[in-house]
Amino acid sequence: MKKICFVLFAAIALIAAIPAGPAIAAPCLEVTLTGTMGGPPTFNGLAGAGTLVRYGDDSNDCNDVKLQFDAGRGTNVRLSQLGIMPNQLKAIFFTHIHSDHTDGFGDIMQQRWHFLGAPLDVVCAADAASPAGHTMSCTDLAANIGDAFIASGEIAQRRAENAARNPAGPAALTNVMAFTPGAAPALVWSSGDVTVWAIKSNHIPGHASYQVITPAGTVVIGGDASNDITDPSMRAFSTSEQVELLAANADILVHSTIHPVMGPAGGSGFPPPVFNRQSTATDIGAMAQRAGIKRVMLTHLIPSIGSPSQGPFPVPGGALKKRNYKNAVKDGGYRGRISVGTDLLTVRLPKNKEVRRKHDD
Ligand SMILES: [Zn+2]
Repeated sequence: MKKICFVLFAAIALIAAIPAGPAIAAPCLEVTLTGTMGGPPTFNGLAGAGTLVRYGDDSNDCNDVKLQFDAGRGTNVRLSQLGIMPNQLKAIFFTHIHSDHTDGFGDIMQQRWHFLGAPLDVVCAADAASPAGHTMSCTDLAANIGDAFIASGEIAQRRAENAARNPAGPAALTNVMAFTPGAAPALVWSSGDVTVWAIKSNHIPGHASYQVITPAGTVVIGGDASNDITDPSMRAFSTSEQVELLAANADILVHSTIHPVMGPAGGSGFPPPVFNRQSTATDIGAMAQRAGIKRVMLTHLIPSIGSPSQGPFPVPGGALKKRNYKNAVKDGGYRGRISVGTDLLTVRLPKNKEVRRKHDD
């Protein structure tokens, strides 16, 4: 009996002595709206359009890879609220080069230059000619991003204080990775487990939408995409068929949104061609339902929540509330989760009850 007890005790002691091994850190993804202003106006301190996608694992709070999609006015301010400096961004992607999506780019590059950051991957569409005769050029935007600061003498003055700063100014730190968007998703950037794909979408020439694939989930950034057919009488819906393809079964779709109330029938005076090159909240809901998207994050809201107008155009019936946007998405038949964007709204995948994040179901 004594012997049996001893063997049993020894066996238990042996099992207890086996090291448990390091806990396996699970991959995670965080999507943060760095700005939700819809279009060029300003309203109530909202930052311009932008989305931060962070990927990593539990051990580093999803902070291995930081990718910025669009960088409207005040992006650096919002990033600072997350404790992120421009030097920490691994790449920046532009859906298109309207100023409400690029205002913050110069600020990011200037600070990166000032603090001796590494070159930044700038991923965007190659030059795109418009039938109207002009060319949209992300490449030229990047190549000239520091010009005003060079012309003002600031670049030379700060170099005189620190010769380690690149003599060619902030543009020298842009590593432009231009691609020609097509009708099928194409790989445009990757790092480790993270791949980013792009597809051509309509809004202005050179518009693209992005899909980020990670082991923790998939997020699609639609940008200001709308249907390729701009005449509403000739199309079934305002959303982009390419975005619908790209976003099939995605965990999250981040998409610019216009409320149907701003349509020509509402009497706001909002220019119909501008209305027609955005996706309505209702059509986004219908698309998300067809595509099996688990969560929709509305951003770039036209009009902003609480604003009596969009720029000079009054909102028919008065300022909208979050629920007006939710209802518009549900009107499209969507039964998934809806987040109506406010600056710094964050969604984490997979959900982690221990990490409290500001988000709105
Ligand atoms: Zn926009």
